[in-house]
Amino acid sequence: MLIKKLCPAVQKNTGTISEELLETDELEERSTIAVKASGIDKNGVFAARPIKRGEVVIKWCPKTLKDSEIAKVPASEKHYVCRSGKKHFLMQPPERFVNHSCEPNTRVENCCDVAIKDIAKGEEITSDYAGCGSENFKCNCGSKNCRGIVN
Ligand SMILES: [Zn+2]
Repeated sequence: MLIKKLCPAVQKNTGTISEELLETDELEERSTIAVKASGIDKNGVFAARPIKRGEVVIKWCPKTLKDSEIAKVPASEKHYVCRSGKKHFLMQPPERFVNHSCEPNTRVENCCDVAIKDIAKGEEITSDYAGCGSENFKCNCGSKNCRGIVN
């Protein structure tokens, strides 16, 4: 399962998390990462401070798409549609700017990007998008073991 629990924004809507807690989380997240121009794609997410292996880098807040909404996603947004089981999600910023790499430094766990190695300040945050249900795309990651096409 790619996405196991509700993101903080959803929990907020159902009243199970305090707004105060949510704001603290968001502040922390802002200082962890920065969205900047990337060599892989137009934008990328970069570490704003050193990140330790096992740390949560980004908590996702994806928008759940109803079946009727999937076909209406504009072409420019299709790259950000992600599937988990029978559900489709539209990834929101900043998590949508995390680029694919065939040698990623994060993996997806419980609706979060979690560091799988120590990440230096300024290093780009990457994830392996294979099998997440987005459309096939050509990989630009430049790693030694690049698979070329991600599907
Ligand atoms: Zn690659």
